[in-house]
Amino acid sequence: MTELRCKVLIVGGGPGGYVAAIRAGELGLDTILVEADRLGGTCLNVGCIPSKALIHAADAVHALTEPHALNALGVSIAPPALDYARTIAWKDAIVTRLTTGVGALLKKAHVRSLRGRATLLDGKSALVHADTGEQRIHCEHLVIATGSEPMELAALPFGGDILSSTHALALTDVPRSLAVVGAGYIGMELGMAFAKLGTKVTIVEALPKILPLYDDELTQPVARSLADLGVETMLGARALGFADGALKVANAEGAGTTVAADKVLVAVGRRPRTSGFGLETLDLAMAGPFLRIDERCATSMRNVWAIGDVTGEPMLAHRAMAQGEMVAEIIAGERRAFDHLAIPAICFTDPEIVAVGLSPDAAKAAHGEILIGLFPFRANGRAMTKQADEGFVRVVARADNHVVLGIHAVGAGVSELSAAFSLALEMGARLEDIAGTIHAHPTESEAFHEAALKALGKPLHI
Ligand code: FAD
Ligand code: NAD
Repeated sequence: MTELRCKVLIVGGGPGGYVAAIRAGELGLDTILVEADRLGGTCLNVGCIPSKALIHAADAVHALTEPHALNALGVSIAPPALDYARTIAWKDAIVTRLTTGVGALLKKAHVRSLRGRATLLDGKSALVHADTGEQRIHCEHLVIATGSEPMELAALPFGGDILSSTHALALTDVPRSLAVVGAGYIGMELGMAFAKLGTKVTIVEALPKILPLYDDELTQPVARSLADLGVETMLGARALGFADGALKVANAEGAGTTVAADKVLVAVGRRPRTSGFGLETLDLAMAGPFLRIDERCATSMRNVWAIGDVTGEPMLAHRAMAQGEMVAEIIAGERRAFDHLAIPAICFTDPEIVAVGLSPDAAKAAHGEILIGLFPFRANGRAMTKQADEGFVRVVARADNHVVLGIHAVGAGVSELSAAFSLALEMGARLEDIAGTIHAHPTESEAFHEAALKALGKPLHI
């Protein structure tokens, strides 16, 4: 067995762990990163990137198989053919390019990267069963970045035709029919993508609405688009089991029914990876199933830190990365604390949804009187030229001092507006700051400007 020593040991090479390692290395901290599987974690290998690649491919296919939008431009086309094996090879090539890039960035930052499973012995040492043999690593600081994994339902254990998101992203054929259990992020993003690829999709959601994380005004355009795609949605329903190509479901009234499906995608949330690698020996304080952390990502044990999905909601890659960067800087001696104010949440459905900060209801509950400005894309020239005039931008601010509390949008491609929204919130913008900023014409970002003007009671284009 080899003995290694370092200042910082990071367990898990997802967005949280690899970003922490790069920053720690850049700051001159002697750092070892241990990853059991592939660098990049869930996000790069089986999450954010492959799912967005699939969504892009599905959009391309849909534009050709349902060519109403192209026809309106005067473009007519012959029916297209899909070689799904090439789609998957293209998606996998993007993943490989990105994960190889992470390896190169770690090397450049002088991080020692080990492939193997770490077993924690205490807060200062771990055993790693690496490709190169067994290693015992001693550290001054331990960063736990072990992420999360898909949650299973007892009635629908993964295997065979019952798929997790990881399996769904690795299918070699487009299924003829797919039942999706859970209308959250994954169910909606992948469900819509498969519907566009030609799959007959049925969504079974336990709550009475899709995307329960977002308010109704934001999800209505997505619900309309689901109906246009021919996706059937069963709300308030429970999946009871799957046999012989039929998903048994208790509908909202409690009556039993079945959904014919070649495959079932179970997307009912993810659970933190906290067992099977000696974490229990540290006896750290928990917050429900997650590791409890403070605003510096410190756990209940000195010099043991935790970042990313293993620490709870929101389970998003950009939160994990921001925490990772911060923890490395704290270990290097900087004074930092994590601020939750402006973590954008984006659902890459069609249309996309963006939310940063407080919803109108939460803003009212926290601050009393509020102002709301909403500007629809149907009054935005650029959106019209892109055949994307569904949706809106909405700004929520305090009524007394006009400080912006939340910014939301639904519409094609609004994910790219999220940077402007987060920046406004992060910098403590007032409505007047947004209204006084010159927004380029013609762009969809003008809807942000106009929403602020509307909240101030001086709209120009509506
Ligand atoms: P992970 O990415 O889960 O990485 C943890 C790593 O730790 C893994 O690589 C694992 O192998 C390793 N590990 C675990 N235990 C050990 C051990 N004992 N020893 C060594 N290594 C270990 N988020 C977004 O922000 N935007 C999106 O668009 C988005 N899309 C998603 C789509 C899907 C289908 C899924 C499943 C998730 C998506 N997410 C998205 C969520 C995002 O992937 C996660 O929030 C993010 O990956 C969390 O990063 P992390 O570093 O905390 O953990
Ligand atoms: P989720 O929490 O977003 O949605 C789960 C859905 O399943 C909810 O609507 C819930 O009501 C429903 N549900 C739970 N139990 C059920 C049951 N027995 N029957 C029917 N419905 C049931 O979880 P997810 O979609 O699995 O995604 C997991 C996490 O991955 C998300 O929390 C998110 O943080 C991350 N993610 C993010 C993105 C993104 O940022 N665009 C994309 C994909 C995943």
